[in-house]
Amino acid sequence: MTANNAFTALMAHMHEAVALSQISGLLGWDQETTMARGSANQRAEWQSALQATLHAKRTDPKVGEWLAAIDPADLEPVEAANIRVISREFERQSRVPTDLAREIARVTSAAQGEWAEARAAGDFAAFQGTLAKVVDLRRQEAAALADGGDLYDALLGEYEPGMRAAELDQLFAGLRRGLVDLRERIGESRVEIPDLKGKFSQDQQMLIARELADAFGYDWKRGRLDLAVHPFSSGSGDDVRITTRVAEQDPFNCFYSTIHEVGHAVYEQNIAPRHGLTVLGTGASMGIHESQSRIFENQLGRSRAFTGFLFRRMQAVFGDFGMADAETFYQMVNKLRRGYIRTEADEVQYNLHVLLRYDLERSLMDGSLDVADLQDAWNQRFEQDFGFAVDSVQNGVLQDVHWPVGLIGYFPTYTLGNIYAGELYAALRADQPDLDTDLAKGDTTHAVAWLKQKIHVHGGAFEPIELIQNAVGHAPSEAPLLSYITQKFSDIYQL
Ligand code: ZN
Repeated sequence: MTANNAFTALMAHMHEAVALSQISGLLGWDQETTMARGSANQRAEWQSALQATLHAKRTDPKVGEWLAAIDPADLEPVEAANIRVISREFERQSRVPTDLAREIARVTSAAQGEWAEARAAGDFAAFQGTLAKVVDLRRQEAAALADGGDLYDALLGEYEPGMRAAELDQLFAGLRRGLVDLRERIGESRVEIPDLKGKFSQDQQMLIARELADAFGYDWKRGRLDLAVHPFSSGSGDDVRITTRVAEQDPFNCFYSTIHEVGHAVYEQNIAPRHGLTVLGTGASMGIHESQSRIFENQLGRSRAFTGFLFRRMQAVFGDFGMADAETFYQMVNKLRRGYIRTEADEVQYNLHVLLRYDLERSLMDGSLDVADLQDAWNQRFEQDFGFAVDSVQNGVLQDVHWPVGLIGYFPTYTLGNIYAGELYAALRADQPDLDTDLAKGDTTHAVAWLKQKIHVHGGAFEPIELIQNAVGHAPSEAPLLSYITQKFSDIYQL
């Protein structure tokens, strides 16, 4: 077998694996949007058959033989990037013993239901044993992956290739201090911002949601918008779907969820066609993905300029909805609220929620924190950073599904995404002095074209840090994000 034949055979093999995994994604989309509840058991069988097929394909010994026959020096950069990603995945999958992988799948799948029950009952103790089991299994997996290295890094690498916890600690320390300080100063501000009142019909909200997707460059010819309980986007290439939700009293939930998911979706839609149905045909990492959804949602979507456009569109669709002017509307969209829930948090407090989880899960992994003490540790840290106490376990340690399903090492990618977004936004502003003029018209064409060229087209061809470095000219730091947030909210709250 020549190196050339091996490369061609490997790419054909992976082409099928990627296609199958996209089909699995589509089944997941269907399950969350249109599938009847009674079909759930049959759907689980389909998914498990597909996953077994996929696993067999990805760990096929032939993949190892092809990889061994290929000399990366013979390859052009995109081919080499394909091999880099395929090798990494193959190595990860091969290192974890099959029995352990099966046990993790079994325990985390059952844990979801147990978590939901314990959450409904407000009883952490009822879930503690299962969570301890999940943590223990993931530690075993990390040990298999780490090969003597850091356990947390081994899990983090699955979501953010090339990133290490030691680097995260540096990025996060200054951010936490800065945000807690800002939150405290805002608490002393005398500026009073009104709340939105009234009811906003589903049809009218969906009309504006579609306009917002248009405004941010979503390609309807290769996608669609549906309702889901928890909004998400799914798919890659020519089939990228988004979902949103509607609450009559809170149209911003619908609008900003939509913009967020459009950020994920436009990223996928803009990946260069040559990466389609290869392992590079999707985003570079969870952090890079989140940077796109967050820059769409916050830096662009919650800007003074863009909210001016949204204010006019809401007036046109809903008539007078009790908001005095565009400036009050801008303040209201960005208003800080006391809250327990990560997914509902504003730009100032959101990362504090994430950093709390990051520090706790690191301690769980290095053994310095016991699951039995997790609830206390959570509550203590929450009060320190947010300035008030957790009132219930639903609003505390049991609020997210991540740990129950075994996602450890995933949380930091949310804040990393915000840090990347901070860097990209600073560079975008420097390159496009007229950005606000565009945004005030609801026009993101130039901004999205910039992101497309710097980030989107490359898909997974670069490591996350390399991608950001190429885009902004230096290694990422938390400073641009912190200064953007500080300036924005110091202005709104007249600090
Ligand atoms: Zn997201």
